[in-house]
Amino acid sequence: MTAKTVASVEHAPPAHWVGDGFHVRPLFAGKAFTPAVSPFLMLDYAAPVNFPPRPNPPGVGPHPHRGFETVTIVYAGEIEHRDSAGHEGKIGTGDVQWMTAAAGVVHDEFHSREQSAKGGLVSMVQLWVNLPAKDKMSKPRYQTLLAADIPTVALANNAGSLRVIAGAFGDAKGPAMTFTPLSVWDVRLNAGAKTGLPMPVGHRSMMPVLDGEVSVGGRKFKAGDVVFFSDEGTAITVEATGDAKLLILSGEPINEPIAHYGPFVMNTQAELRQAVEDFRAGRMGDLAA
Ligand code: MN
Repeated sequence: MTAKTVASVEHAPPAHWVGDGFHVRPLFAGKAFTPAVSPFLMLDYAAPVNFPPRPNPPGVGPHPHRGFETVTIVYAGEIEHRDSAGHEGKIGTGDVQWMTAAAGVVHDEFHSREQSAKGGLVSMVQLWVNLPAKDKMSKPRYQTLLAADIPTVALANNAGSLRVIAGAFGDAKGPAMTFTPLSVWDVRLNAGAKTGLPMPVGHRSMMPVLDGEVSVGGRKFKAGDVVFFSDEGTAITVEATGDAKLLILSGEPINEPIAHYGPFVMNTQAELRQAVEDFRAGRMGDLAA
């Protein structure tokens, strides 16, 4: 294995509110919606916030998406979704919702009623994954990946653990069905641990640090940093200087133009105008109250 080197680093801007339910830092804001993060588009991280009990769940009301997938990983609390394709579900700690908006859905995202009534910690990430042009107008799909169905790999030398949400790590295969080859790993490292993670060849790789501190090649990184690795090399070698919570994201870049406007990600400006028109005309459906 040859180690991938650090190609660049992004430092996340301060947090902002998405609706009234999610206090997020856009972790690679400076590179979002560019080829540098392909096949991913953007990543919001809501660090744990303690919400007081309230009868009306906080969150984000009905809004559309077209042309990509939203992946929500819950670290704490319980979140409820509904969409215009008739899907709905609740995901709790350790669960993942992998929603393929594709041709278009209107959905909402709230703390669950139970979560809201009792209050408490809510923490999650939402990752946007691009679709190749040929799949952007496919049928919307919804995968609920429960914690029990996500394999956890114990890393050698008591270095920590790695949950395979998508892609494969050794014999462990993530449950997510994806349109292009990609990996999403939820990683915990123990203080003082050094570990080498083999990476699929030909993938673009990045490592958002969600909590704690790590070092790569002698350089230190802290929560809110995203390490971008060289395309060359076959492994990531990372050392935790304290207990650390990371994501490892990698995938084959989709080498197609990216046109982005709000909740729509297409290939051309004309397709974006069509998306706005289709949404306004109700062609992405509606959420009955
Ligand atoms: Mn959404």
